[in-house]
Amino acid sequence: MANTQHGGISIELEHIFPIIKKWLYSEKEIFLREITSNACDAITKLRRLISLGEAKDIKLDAKIKVVLDKDASTLTVIDNGIGMTEEEVKKYICQIALSGALDFIQKYEGESTEAGQNGIIGHFGLGFYSSFMVSDTVDVITKSYTGAPCVKWTCGEDGNYEIENDYDDEDDLLDGFGTAVVMHINDEGKEFLSEYKLKEVLGKYCAFMPVPIFFEDENAEEPAESEENEPKEPQPVNDTEPLWQKNPSECTDEEYKDFYRKVFSDWKEPLFHIHLKADYPLNFKGILYFPRISNEYESLEGQVKLFYNQVFVADNIKEVIPEYLLMLKGVLDCPELPLNVSRSYLQNSGYVSKISAHITKKVADKLNQMFTNDRENFESIWRDLKTFVEYGCMRDRKFYDRVNANILFEKCGGGFVTLDEYLESAKEKHENKIYYANDATAQSKYISMFTAEGIDVILLDRVIDTQFIHTIEQNRESVKFCRIDAEVADVLKADGDKTENTAVADLFKKIAGDSTKVEFDRLKDASTPALLNISEEARRMNDMMKLYNMGAGMPLEQTLILNTASPLVDKMTGLVDSGNNELAETIARQIYMLSSLSQRPLTAEELVAFLNDSYDILGKL
Ligand code: ADP
Repeated sequence: MANTQHGGISIELEHIFPIIKKWLYSEKEIFLREITSNACDAITKLRRLISLGEAKDIKLDAKIKVVLDKDASTLTVIDNGIGMTEEEVKKYICQIALSGALDFIQKYEGESTEAGQNGIIGHFGLGFYSSFMVSDTVDVITKSYTGAPCVKWTCGEDGNYEIENDYDDEDDLLDGFGTAVVMHINDEGKEFLSEYKLKEVLGKYCAFMPVPIFFEDENAEEPAESEENEPKEPQPVNDTEPLWQKNPSECTDEEYKDFYRKVFSDWKEPLFHIHLKADYPLNFKGILYFPRISNEYESLEGQVKLFYNQVFVADNIKEVIPEYLLMLKGVLDCPELPLNVSRSYLQNSGYVSKISAHITKKVADKLNQMFTNDRENFESIWRDLKTFVEYGCMRDRKFYDRVNANILFEKCGGGFVTLDEYLESAKEKHENKIYYANDATAQSKYISMFTAEGIDVILLDRVIDTQFIHTIEQNRESVKFCRIDAEVADVLKADGDKTENTAVADLFKKIAGDSTKVEFDRLKDASTPALLNISEEARRMNDMMKLYNMGAGMPLEQTLILNTASPLVDKMTGLVDSGNNELAETIARQIYMLSSLSQRPLTAEELVAFLNDSYDILGKL
């Protein structure tokens, strides 16, 4: 005899329902993940009992059905898992879930939105009730694998429930045992009465759940039967054995690439991947891919998907994954991750920091391995990698310590060197100093002067580079990076006459302004009349102020070095000495402009004057 009992889930429910609806889950669609993952758990439990020999006569063809009935406005999730007896329904659905929720709410009440809206990452024993975000009534029809009678539990959004035991499952929702959760979708949930929407949500959260999930549309038209149109075997919407769960030795390169394409819809091949597999106590798995990042302006935003036992939790959880790794793409499955806690708790959790440290180590190991085993290939992908590596080094000292020996620097003339290789090859000429250019075209004259002396110039032409060299200098105090137009390197200097000419110096000062010092030196390269230097410190300081919008427009102290070996400087001295001031000044202006070109673009006025002077000079030929 069926027997119906009534109950109210207690007054506390009045508090809880509005919270579930408006506050707890910022995204309504989460309900489908919660209900489907409960179904999955129920099957996993039954599988375990079967393997323990505790559910002897059961032959399990595990599956979950998600059934849409637009006409009836219902969405039903059916599993053939462990099911529940009447006692269990009372215990698990009516009590436990709510007490878990109450605990949580009490704990985080007053912590406002941080713990609320986005504060929690996963579920915490409240998962089932998230169905009320989209339903006004929810039925649970369940039959325990033990053979206990079928039970129907029905609850409205006021929290009043009804339990009918010995329920007659006349529609055969259940196949012998298991649970069907029937959600009577309300106005707020209307969007979920669409096949398209449901498939999208299933694709997002359930794509790798460990039990096959089938989508059914009750109102879909039956395809007409014909010879060519044989009914097709229904296909699950998910992949129950995602690649990350497999042993790396059993996965092919093609499988890794396929998986990448499918999961990230990125048609550019990744550079390489790292298959993570950490045993007890960390116990997590995953695959990280290095995407191609060829130019500096391309979005550096990666996507690391966090899973909990193959159930998608969220993208880019920066509390779990070091921030710089979020430039990568990948999946991480952390079944030990506490999800029923706030994000701020995760940030300080020892377990999470161990995961981070482990991943950092694996990424560094992989980079070092590639450097050692196949340097040629490593060099060929370095431009794609470098932003990631540099950013990682700036963010994480441990990462820097692990990889710094194998960081590559591109030489202006082509080829790559490590810092130590550079310093070793330059040590006869200058110690602990790395000369670099940031614009291979504007600074080409300097570069050729250096290469003529057998000194390599490193190319640091990305915005991040200048910040990165600062990190290196902080970590290796003896090392200094110096832009080639910051000072005159000793190797460029020649012995011989360096006599100063005060009249010439005054003329240049008049042209270049008060912030310019004029010096005389003798360079090996006689074809260059003058170099304009801005000290490394002053320029960096200025760059930084510009970056923070401070003190823009302040003139930079600069030094104009006149080359006493240059015939042009000689000629000018002659002109000044003989009183031909007009021509001397035109030439001086020209020399000053030409020496400025490596430091900065000319202003509009300067350019006009420069062109006019040039034509004047040509006219005098
Ligand atoms: P959680 O899944 O985090 O424990 P829920 O509120 O989602 O919290 O579910 C509460 C309990 O109800 C579950 O622990 C489980 O015992 C039971 N339950 C929910 N859905 C099912 C189902 N489909 N089959 C069997 N038991 C279920």
